[in-house]
Amino acid sequence: MRSGLLSPSRLRLAAQVGFAAFLAWTCARFFDHVAWATGQSDIWAAKPPAVEGFLPISALMAAKRLVFTGQWDPIHPAGLTIFLAILATALLWRKGFCGQLCPVGLASNLLERLGRRLGLARQPGQLGRRILAAPKYLLLAGFGYLTLGMNAADIESFLHSPYNMVADTRMLAFFQQPSGTTLSVLGFLAVMSVVVPAFWCRALCPYGALLGLVAWLSPVAVARDEASCVHCGRCAKACPMALPVDTLTRVSSPECQGCVECVGVCPVPGCLGVSAANRRLPWWVLAAGTLAVLVVASVLADALGYWQSPLPPQMVRRMHMLMLGQMPDF
Ligand code: SF4
Ligand code: SF4
Ligand code: SF4
Repeated sequence: MRSGLLSPSRLRLAAQVGFAAFLAWTCARFFDHVAWATGQSDIWAAKPPAVEGFLPISALMAAKRLVFTGQWDPIHPAGLTIFLAILATALLWRKGFCGQLCPVGLASNLLERLGRRLGLARQPGQLGRRILAAPKYLLLAGFGYLTLGMNAADIESFLHSPYNMVADTRMLAFFQQPSGTTLSVLGFLAVMSVVVPAFWCRALCPYGALLGLVAWLSPVAVARDEASCVHCGRCAKACPMALPVDTLTRVSSPECQGCVECVGVCPVPGCLGVSAANRRLPWWVLAAGTLAVLVVASVLADALGYWQSPLPPQMVRRMHMLMLGQMPDF
């Protein structure tokens, strides 16, 4: 069992908190941008491109447009960069984004810890796990059907619509002034995540479903050395997704979040770890590799002109003013 500062559990929490702090800083800058764009402030503030990472549906359409036309989305270029970079992390480092960085994953991790501490956490059986996992794949199929079913002209018209241009501002408004229904749904999900570890991620997140399917193709996975295993079952018990780690030699399931909590609790040194093509890698590679891909992708995209939106600031402001009538909170 690994303890000390560099245990998988602690590094994971540190990475999640660090990434959440970065996103909070991004949102604070975006708030200033929206204040300027909606006329509440005369001080111009640039939009932080990273905020476009919260627009995966727009990015999905932009990805299809990229395939059709070879052109990068000029409306939310960073959104497309982040979307493709996160898919690349899944291919290289499994669901390292889910297990190590995603802010919803952080909330899920904290609620799971609370549930375990209070003795409320319950893991469903094998059938229950399968039933619970199904809705997110159905949601993903629905989004895929809607997006892939659109022709090039429809996608073009959506991406250039005023609605899409201010989609990030709309999202901010949605979370700034949550309706009673939104709060009830969030409360329900929080309670369910205390009782059923990673409830949102395992049942409802279509993004996680997509990453899981891509991660299936990854050569990297948690692997167990049968010869040295003492079959204590600690790894399976620690797994938020209740995967039977103690009976598998390689965890290839798309449900594996890449959290490496299982590795951290194994009492036999070298028995459980992260492997690629039968070679052992350091367990921290999922966090470090995922972060490295995102940083390199954003730096490269900035250098190549795929990060900052080329839309003139006054046009952005006009779009926001145009949408003001439908956005009474701004
Ligand atoms: S499944 Fe979705 S919400 Fe959960 S950690 Fe992954 S991307 Fe984030
Ligand atoms: S198998 Fe290990 S890395 Fe995968 S979800 Fe379970 S605990 Fe996390
Ligand atoms: S892999 Fe490690 S934690 Fe899991 S059953 Fe074997 S010895 Fe125990």
